[in-house]
Amino acid sequence: MDIPKILSTMTLREKIEYCCGADMWHTRQLPQHQIPAIKMSDGPHGLRCQADGGDMLGINESLPATCFPAAVTAGATWDRELYAAEGAAIGAEALQSGVSLVLGPGCNIKRNPLGGRNFEYLSEDPHHAGMMTAAFVSGLQSTGASACVKHFAVNSQEFKRQNGDSRLSMRALREIYLRPFQLAVEHSKPATVMCSYNKINGVYASDNELLLTQILRREWGFDGMVVTDWGAMNDRVAAYRAGCDLNMPGGSTYMQKAVEKALAEGTLCMEDIDRSVERILRLTQRALDAPKVNADLQAHHELARKIAVRGAVLLKNDGILPLQSPHGLLVGHMAGSLRYQGSGSSHINPHKLEQLTQALPQMTYFACCDASGAVTREALQEAARLAAAQSVAVVVAGLPDSFESEGFDRDHMALPQGHEQMIRAVAAANPNTVVVLLGGSPMELPWKDEVRAILYMGLPGQAGGSAIADLLLGRENPSGKLTETWPASYSQVICRDTFGVRDPEYREDVYVGYRYYAGANVPVAYPFGFGLSYTRFTYSDFALQPDAVRVTVENTGSCAGEEVVQLYIAPPRDGLHRPCLELKDFAKVCLQPGEKKTVRFPLSREQFALWNDGWVVPGGSYGICIGASSADIRCRGQLEVEGQTCPAPSWQEGSWYTHLQGIPTREEWLHTMPVRPPQSVVPTKGSYDRNSTLREMQTTSRLMRLIYRTMCRIISKPYPKKEEDPACRMMITCATDCPIRSLVINGQGYFTDGMADFFLRIANGRKRRK
Ligand code: BGC
Repeated sequence: MDIPKILSTMTLREKIEYCCGADMWHTRQLPQHQIPAIKMSDGPHGLRCQADGGDMLGINESLPATCFPAAVTAGATWDRELYAAEGAAIGAEALQSGVSLVLGPGCNIKRNPLGGRNFEYLSEDPHHAGMMTAAFVSGLQSTGASACVKHFAVNSQEFKRQNGDSRLSMRALREIYLRPFQLAVEHSKPATVMCSYNKINGVYASDNELLLTQILRREWGFDGMVVTDWGAMNDRVAAYRAGCDLNMPGGSTYMQKAVEKALAEGTLCMEDIDRSVERILRLTQRALDAPKVNADLQAHHELARKIAVRGAVLLKNDGILPLQSPHGLLVGHMAGSLRYQGSGSSHINPHKLEQLTQALPQMTYFACCDASGAVTREALQEAARLAAAQSVAVVVAGLPDSFESEGFDRDHMALPQGHEQMIRAVAAANPNTVVVLLGGSPMELPWKDEVRAILYMGLPGQAGGSAIADLLLGRENPSGKLTETWPASYSQVICRDTFGVRDPEYREDVYVGYRYYAGANVPVAYPFGFGLSYTRFTYSDFALQPDAVRVTVENTGSCAGEEVVQLYIAPPRDGLHRPCLELKDFAKVCLQPGEKKTVRFPLSREQFALWNDGWVVPGGSYGICIGASSADIRCRGQLEVEGQTCPAPSWQEGSWYTHLQGIPTREEWLHTMPVRPPQSVVPTKGSYDRNSTLREMQTTSRLMRLIYRTMCRIISKPYPKKEEDPACRMMITCATDCPIRSLVINGQGYFTDGMADFFLRIANGRKRRK
């Protein structure tokens, strides 16, 4: 493709149109310039390639593909090679299906356990999330397919995800929320990045020049294309200037006239448009260069099983696991109908699906509860009766689909009441009770002392059934470690009051996850990096040099196993406040019984840096810690690092940021902010604009209420359980709580800019155009 020539011959209208896709999943084709369309599909955990009936929420059927474990499980493997293999497998399935751009992986930070999409993300830690993302992207792109790292940025909640404003300090932005993206871009050169829906400190991600050009491109050297999340385009003119290239989904004429006007008036220049066109063309060229591939679905199924096994986290085991016999009682609806993936745009149509009941055929099975987790008194009595008659009981429990999904955050951290009752009833009747947990993020486990073992599988994908059986029976050894702290209860979560609100204020700043819990000495249920094994590992021969640290890990148990060795730094405590632990590297080692291996982590200045109006290395004595988890440091040495002085600002002394006790106040947090953010305002009649949603406007406008209710009725019609069905709840939220401008984009030509303006005039109580 002769890109300069194409650029010089395309008309202005063609260029503007080309920067908006053709439909839900394609770029436009321009036969007059021999430019073909390229196809994209969702895919953090497998390919969601839709032949027809395209939708962005995973509602309509997609073509069968391998459903790998969700990122919550893949992340818990801490295994870059394995995650790269998953990327390569998804890349192969994509190319085989004619898809050249895979919309994943997602590397947003798990800020709060209730985040509706936590299951789709990798970690509460930026280094872990970034390095795993880089591995996946490298694997996927090694096939010739292109990856899309999403959602850039600070998109860590679902509530008001489409028009909320994430407010945070530059330091939290750089050290925590942008860091995974930076590592992914620098280590794996993703072909594309997807900008998120939300605002970041007042500026929508699509229009954010600081993020999309200054940081992403100039600082990190990203040379690919930026695509919007589906319907995330705010101001097309500002977005061109900011470096946002492709507006998706396609099919609308959203703000095309405004772009022409801006060009005519000189507020937008041709180069801004040409740059975006060129980037889309380069992506198209990549697609044309990709080889033909045959994907081996059976091998991918086996890979999915391996990832589920390696990402399984053994939270508790007093020695009952592995089970001595394949006989016993298996309880829980989820054992017969595994919760193996999450809902929303990452939803896969698996080409094969294993249930735990099939994988444990010698066990007596009793569902006990229904799909939503509800139980009856009779069912509980029956479960107890059956449990009393068996030598062991395995209860499968967790978060049902209705509890977590894209589109809404979780309401609380508890399991369904019925699941708790089921576990307690079985455990009371049988002292040898084991719990298998399924779900995408931490849960409160008030019954944990009543059972002998807990195996957390996350969302283990299509091969989850045999993976769980192999682990329970000791054919495999769990080696996953948590990438999100499990607080003992939601009341321990530091951002509990500033999460799930319209314009979340990230007052905890850099104290996310273990950075907070470790510093504040909070007795959590299970710390970041934690996970047991059927074998034991000892750490010895710790050797620290200025440029590297070494440690020897030995398997001193009686079966083969894998250990995740974690490198943390413990920064000096003087000067600018800083978390007491920060993960800087990790390695997974596979050891036979009696075998030892030495792990070496290189040390670089970058690892000691913090953000203080630029990356700076504060000089001083750093603890170099090797841990089996963030709360189990096995070896530690001190290293003198030369660097700058980073004095504490005058407001710091005595503030929350130094002692982490209680919760940070708004006044304290404001000191960390570049500018004082405005008070969060709920729009009302007279102030509605294109960022207002139907749900907001229906509160004051009769017509909007009518439209809102009609829409809810139409959407929920096919769902017998209405809003109890996560797909229905997600659809309603996404359609009614998305900005009116997104309706224009998603309306693909049926709902125009003019119609949006008309609606707004009515909602604002103005009859005529002014
Ligand atoms: C999600 C994206 C997804 C897109 C296309 C959006 O709702 O946020 O992650 O890639 O839809 O399905």
